Amino acid sequence: MYKVKRYDLPGKINEECGVFGVYDVEDASGITYYGLHALQHRGQEAAGIASSDDVHIQCIKGKGLIQEVFTAETVKKLNGISAVGHVRYSSKDNNELENIQPLMVRAHTGHFAVVHNGQIVNAMELKIALENTGSIFQGTSDSEILVHLIQKHSGNMVTKITKACNMLEGAFAFIILTKDCMFAIRDKNGLRPLSLGKMKDGYCISSETCAFDVVGAQFIRDLKPGELLRIDHKEVQSFQYTTITQKKMCAMEYVYFARPDSVIEGLNVHNARKKAGKLLAQIDEKEHDVCGDIVIGVPDSSLSAAIGYAEECKLPYEMGLIKNRYIARTFIQPTQAQRENGVRMKLSAVSSIVKGKKIILIDDSIVRGTTIKRIIKILKDAGAIEIHVRIASAPFISPCFYGVDTTDYHELIAHKMSVEELKEYIQADSLKYISVEQMYEIHGKDLCLACFSKQYPTELFQHQKEIEE
Ligand code: AMP
Ligand code: SF4
Repeated sequence: MYKVKRYDLPGKINEECGVFGVYDVEDASGITYYGLHALQHRGQEAAGIASSDDVHIQCIKGKGLIQEVFTAETVKKLNGISAVGHVRYSSKDNNELENIQPLMVRAHTGHFAVVHNGQIVNAMELKIALENTGSIFQGTSDSEILVHLIQKHSGNMVTKITKACNMLEGAFAFIILTKDCMFAIRDKNGLRPLSLGKMKDGYCISSETCAFDVVGAQFIRDLKPGELLRIDHKEVQSFQYTTITQKKMCAMEYVYFARPDSVIEGLNVHNARKKAGKLLAQIDEKEHDVCGDIVIGVPDSSLSAAIGYAEECKLPYEMGLIKNRYIARTFIQPTQAQRENGVRMKLSAVSSIVKGKKIILIDDSIVRGTTIKRIIKILKDAGAIEIHVRIASAPFISPCFYGVDTTDYHELIAHKMSVEELKEYIQADSLKYISVEQMYEIHGKDLCLACFSKQYPTELFQHQKEIEE
């Protein structure tokens, strides 16, 4: 069978990213810089800011971390009282300059800048249809599809965006900045988070609420699925671009992506992770299988769950692994070779803590199995005598098509191996997960859990063949 490689597909882009916007606040580009800094964990390969002074929109963007792309001087050059920004993750195949956001549009009807987090599942169909009617694409970004769809429709911007968004299937959180107003849109399944905050006389929009705390904005509310906000100097107007909605927020935001201090759909991420750790401990207690001397978590995303486990079992929570903070997140390095090297450079065991100990090792998830296998080796090399791995999510069995880069179906280790086989492969002394039902228990029912359950909340279009056996 011909296997469709994900990089064969036009529009396979806009992986897990962070978007931020601020409207009607002095030093908008400076605020956006700090907002993006707080969202840096969502993407580290490119960053950009576009600002408007109510007359012109200008943009600076480039490859690298936010502080590599911008200096104090370049941020100042982006004058104006409104701005949008983007931090970008890109997979190995789409790291081109054309795809770095904000995407700037110079239309006769008015200039605008677009930032996007998510992935459009019917991107290929739309792109082919658009090309057949004369559209020319510069990059492979989904944002370009939105832009062409907006320009194909007539009416005011709200009408044009409404019509365009009704043609999109999949996950998106868009912010659009025109010279005199800003729009924020969340997809009809609410797959990607997007929140509204108040700042002085103006407003902020962010992928995660942690950015509000950093810039001194107050959280107002999450956007609703299918909602389109229009913000100008006078007011915030709310429209539904569709009323056919359901809430299916991405569970991986709680499991891995979001910062622990963020609150998504009313649930603090640290507390959600801690609860998963407690549940793992309860499973072990019930099975009389609490078999460690100390509990350690894989820094940083598993520390909350490790604290939860330790609290529940009344075992010492220890700092058995130290992370070198100056290495980017391993998974976010596009090639497998880079990733493997990354684990070794990134984590070290504290041998005085782990030597001679039976360890309960908490990790948030296992995707390819590279990270956990190496960590177990690092801990055993440092003298740990037993390692009992507990995963604070269910087995990761199916890829994501909604903006989270999770590798091909056939590379997902839990798809290829049973829990027992995987335990042997990673050389753990035992391995347990929580179940999909327990994930609903922790995070609520309004979730997408497709990578754990294979139950996708939308049609998958051309991606359907990627999950066929
Ligand atoms: P691996 O099993 O080596 O592929 O990596 C799994 C680790 O990467 C997990 O422990 C998470 O901390 C992290 N991770 C899980 N899913 C993702 C993702 N979609 N993107 C980036 N990192 C992830
Ligand atoms: Fe999140 Fe998984 Fe759903 Fe993708 S498939 S949106 S990673 S829960």
